[in-house]
Amino acid sequence: MTDGLALAAHGLGKRYRATWALRDCSFELPTGRVAALVGTNGAGKTTLLTMIAGLLQPTEGELRLADGGRVAFVAQDKPLYRAFTPLEMLRLGAELNRQWDQQRALDWLSRFDVPPRQPCGRLSGGQQAQVAFAVAIGSRPSLLVLDEPLSDLDPLARRAVISELLTEVADTGMTMLMSTHVVAELSGVADHLLLLADGRLVMSGDVDDLLAGHRVYTGPRSDG
Ligand code: ATP
Repeated sequence: MTDGLALAAHGLGKRYRATWALRDCSFELPTGRVAALVGTNGAGKTTLLTMIAGLLQPTEGELRLADGGRVAFVAQDKPLYRAFTPLEMLRLGAELNRQWDQQRALDWLSRFDVPPRQPCGRLSGGQQAQVAFAVAIGSRPSLLVLDEPLSDLDPLARRAVISELLTEVADTGMTMLMSTHVVAELSGVADHLLLLADGRLVMSGDVDDLLAGHRVYTGPRSDG
């Protein structure tokens, strides 16, 4: 793995029976970036993110994480144990993660006013999303992968979450990759872009470079 990269994909593909959900996907994501994965419904975003999370095996190609890299994944449906309270979810996180940072997870919940002792099943969608973020953040990931993370949040909470996530990135040096099909959600936020259409990565690279028309990434560096 080349230094300075959080993640690299080469010729990545996923087929579900006869259908290729993702094909010939190659990109590099430098460490410390805030990356947006953009594409319409069905473009292959969830498929790619689930493979990065290690929950789905690629049909072809390879994915490489930085040495010692730890991925935290917040899935689109943000699965929580409905009978567990947020505090119990964090306790579970602590049991499952050797690198757990309880204070960081608790801080996240307190910033968003989530009742810590109420069963998750009785929380609003937005509050449940905050619990899922707290569990992910508490695991001290080097790469935080979020699948349409803002869809359950009202516009005010959306801005607050983005701002807190950017603070986490700045404070810890982690890399973040988040998907959306609403490009406006991430304008001015992401500094790296991956654009998927019909299972193909049509554009990838630094946002400023792409806007200036300088460089569109088409494969791994030959010197890596
Ligand atoms: P959305 O924004 O709607 O979540 P997406 O960009 O995340 O879409 P994927 O969920 O990755 O897209 O789906 C990509 C393609 O793969 C779609 O055509 C979808 O129907 C198909 N697909 C996804 N999961 C499966 C599966 N388990 N079995 C068969 N086909 C699947």
